[in-house]
This record gives sequence, structure tokens and C-alpha cells, in this order.
Amino acid sequence: MRLFAAVLPPAVAVDELAAEVRELKQLPGADGLRWTEPAGWHFTLAFMGEVPEETVPGLSERLARAAHRTEPFPLALHGGGRFGDRALWAGASGRLDVLRRLAERADAAARKAGIDMDRHRGYTPHLTLARSRAAAVDLRPFVAALDGFEGGPWTVGELSLVRSHLPRGGITGQRPRYEEVGRWPFGGAG
Ligand code: ATP
Ligand code: MG
Repeated sequence: MRLFAAVLPPAVAVDELAAEVRELKQLPGADGLRWTEPAGWHFTLAFMGEVPEETVPGLSERLARAAHRTEPFPLALHGGGRFGDRALWAGASGRLDVLRRLAERADAAARKAGIDMDRHRGYTPHLTLARSRAAAVDLRPFVAALDGFEGGPWTVGELSLVRSHLPRGGITGQRPRYEEVGRWPFGGAG
């Protein structure tokens, strides 16, 4: 199954961002983008790809330990950015240092569980809002519009393991659905 570890924003934060995205969708070019569903919004910590069923218990155990070693930390949705002309995302503010450490721990957990992880080129905390369709859309005005966006902070207190169901073959415009298959609470400080 296709898996990734993630931090899921709470409903209040999702609602704030959804209101912002409704504004973004009024901008020229918005129709040329494939917008993600608020219900699936997440900050990816570590992408594992296809993982065999028998690896999941060991992976879960390692992720539980990674969560236990992490202290709860504040995070807020803040501003945005883009990956070239491919993806538009919302960013975060708060304890990004702890978020980054958590991403490293999730990556290490997956490796120790025997999953062949990509070498990662630096961690950019991001919540993907839209991807470009075939035609290139200039994402800069969308990033600029997100500039002043600041959601209310929340305390991140758990790590989630999410299964990604890719769209069934050939059906265009159908988005993947995400299913949370595990969730582990953080431990105390240190
Ligand atoms: P789609 O692939 O149909 O556009 P998606 O990217 O949301 O949808 P997945 O490909 O299953 O669905 O990815 C799940 C999450 O993991 C997404 O946040 C995605 O950006 C991230 N991700 C996917 N592939 C990688 C990768 N090779 N490295 C890092 N993150 C990845
Ligand atoms: Mg993908």
C-alpha cells in the first residue's frame, strides 16, 4: 500500500485555509489548476511509497517511538510558496525546527523498518493546495495572495500514517483519497 507520514491540521485551521483558498480561486488562471480537497490537507513528513503489508507493523512500532520522542509544539498556517510551476502550497510558522526533527525521525523510522527511502533534498514544510494541469499557469500571483495569510496556531500533538489511494486507472480529474491508518501521540518534553 502507498503510505506517507504526515501532520494533519485541525478542522479550525483547515476551515481558515479553505476560506483563503476560496479567494485564491477567484484569481485568473485558477481554473487551470487542480485544487486539492480540504479534507485531505496535510503536511507530509516522509513519503514511503509502496510498502508491503508485512512491513506495516514494524513501521508502526518505529513511528510510535518517533512520536514518543517528540514534544508537542505550536504550528500555524502561514503564507505560501510554489515548487516551480508545478505546485502551489501553504506554508507554516511556529516550531519548524521541531517539525523538521519529526520529519527526520519519521524518515529514520521508515528506513529502520526496511523501506527504501529517497535521499531527501532538504525538507520544505508545505501543504499542497494545487497542482498545475497540462497548461502552465503562473503561480506567482497565488503565492503573493497567500503572503499575508496567517492562521491561528494549534499544538501539534500526534503523528499520522496515511494511506494514499491513487485514482483508478485512466479516470482523469479524480483525486486520490487519503485514509489515516495510524496515529501516535507525542511524548513529553525531550
Ligand atoms: P497525485 O499524485 O495524484 O497528484 P498526491 O501527490 O497527493 O496526488 P501521492 O502521490 O500518493 O498523492 O502523495 C501523497 C503525499 O506524499 C503528497 O503530499 C505528495 O506531495 C507526497 N509525495 C508524493 N511523492 C513524493 C516523493 N517522491 N517525495 C516526497 N513526497 C512525496
Ligand atoms: Mg503524487
